[in-house]
Amino acid sequence: VLQRTIARDFTLHGVGVHSAAPVAIRVRPAPAGAGISFVRSDLSGPAAAPIPAHIDALKSAQNSTNLANGAGGEIATVEHLLASCSALGLDNLLVEVSGPEMGIMDGSAKAYAEALIAAGVTTQAGPQRRAIEVLKPVEIVSGAKRAALTPSEARVFDVTIRFTDPAIGTQRLELMLNPAVFAAEVAPARTFGFLADLEAYQAKGLAMGASLENTIAIADGRVVNPEGLRYPDEFVRHKMLDAIGDLALAGAPILGRFEGDQPGHALNTQLVLALLADETAWRWVELPD
Ligand SMILES: [Zn+2]
Repeated sequence: VLQRTIARDFTLHGVGVHSAAPVAIRVRPAPAGAGISFVRSDLSGPAAAPIPAHIDALKSAQNSTNLANGAGGEIATVEHLLASCSALGLDNLLVEVSGPEMGIMDGSAKAYAEALIAAGVTTQAGPQRRAIEVLKPVEIVSGAKRAALTPSEARVFDVTIRFTDPAIGTQRLELMLNPAVFAAEVAPARTFGFLADLEAYQAKGLAMGASLENTIAIADGRVVNPEGLRYPDEFVRHKMLDAIGDLALAGAPILGRFEGDQPGHALNTQLVLALLADETAWRWVELPD
């Protein structure tokens, strides 16, 4: 099975959900073996060096997943694009971004997934596609939160969220990941937040670009957005989207079963680090189609 990139480049425009910075995002094909990387097209000098979409470049993972190149170049909120690339089986891309944060678009990965699909997939001569096969369970526990990877022949995501707010409650979803399932069941699920938390977030400079156009807002036990939800369990689907994007930072598809109980970016990225740090927990394998 050969590696894959997109057939044609494309450009999307958006704003950062935290920074509110407007950005142009140009996604271009990249050579076999290059992997996925970001370049800050608004910077020059060492800061404009590529930022690999790899856990080694992780800068922070609190409210979003943010990468840096060690020379002053940073790119925030990469998880929705990376989830799309991982789920659609794209190995090599160059993502040029004209600002500090990826566009939030409509709060989901729908725009990214649709643009990548429309750009077409092309296979590349050179090294084969590889995956990281999970050989034994790896687990991260943080209070009541848990994330784990266990061996599985398929890429399975099993995510549970538990909120006291009745608008969300407890939701669980288990899916076997493939491009069609991602596009139909996961990519359109939007990010969400509680209106009561907005002021505190914005006092910290977070969620400055959040609006009802890109976030499901919850207040008084209800969804505020007039259009309602895209799925009755849209919230757990979005957490699954985030987990797929965070696990993509392993640098290759993880062949295994992800189990997340109240997962978040911090837990997900710690899990990737724990997996890669234990050489007995995984091995490289050629990826079946
Ligand atoms: Zn998200």
